[in-house]
Amino acid sequence: MPTGNAEDPRTYPLRAPGWDEIPDLVHGFLGRAQGLAPGDFGRGDLETALRAGGERPVQILAARQVHGSTVLAPEDLDAICANDDARMPGALPDGDAIVTASADVIATIRTADCVPVLLVAPRARAAAAIHAGWRGLVAGVVRTAIEALGARYGAAPSEIRAAIGPAIGGCCYEFGAEHHTTFVEAFGQASEQAWSTTPEGAAQARPHLDVGFLAHVALTQAGVPEAAIQIVSPCTAEHPDELHSYRRDGAAAGRQLSYIGWRPS
Ligand SMILES: [Zn+2]
Repeated sequence: MPTGNAEDPRTYPLRAPGWDEIPDLVHGFLGRAQGLAPGDFGRGDLETALRAGGERPVQILAARQVHGSTVLAPEDLDAICANDDARMPGALPDGDAIVTASADVIATIRTADCVPVLLVAPRARAAAAIHAGWRGLVAGVVRTAIEALGARYGAAPSEIRAAIGPAIGGCCYEFGAEHHTTFVEAFGQASEQAWSTTPEGAAQARPHLDVGFLAHVALTQAGVPEAAIQIVSPCTAEHPDELHSYRRDGAAAGRQLSYIGWRPS
């Protein structure tokens, strides 16, 4: 599967090709230079990151990401994210996707190898930011986010466009083969293509997982048209100058911010 549509050097925030033409949409995948330091953060840190990416945020939403499938909306998050003193993520409600159709609200998620997925439904003027690690994908976070866009804002899966952002690639994500059955149960045989064995032909070949491919499978299985899915994703582990990677840096890894929302029309 291709792992990027831009030639080096990349400019952050990365954007999904064509999405800048969607009226009033704000979106991007910020890089390491604009990312969060390890540990707690406050509202001001989120704002600084977004401003470094050229945005002018009014209200910023974030969740306490727990690798589940809970979807939050602006009304679930207003009180905390508006509080300058709240320390995050501890003060935030649990959730791994945020949906919004509100003007002047930017939904954010934080990753450092897990897959950031952004969704937009232009006609319904609705959007979602999803934190999709392998556990969240198995828990169904992509499907629950797409269902929430339908239930709350009337967006059909067929009109949703998706962008898969920077995540650890199948090149670098050594992964336990014991999870093979887990993925087959969650995604069927389509998950088989997420696995590779590297180094190729070595005596001690080890299984590797392309978690971005699993996100792609989850999107198509939830009804997003294949042609509406873009991959905007260099491998996090291979680009230390550009991106944080938990696998590469462990506890010292910061987080990159991915975001989506709407300006007032
Ligand atoms: Zn890699």
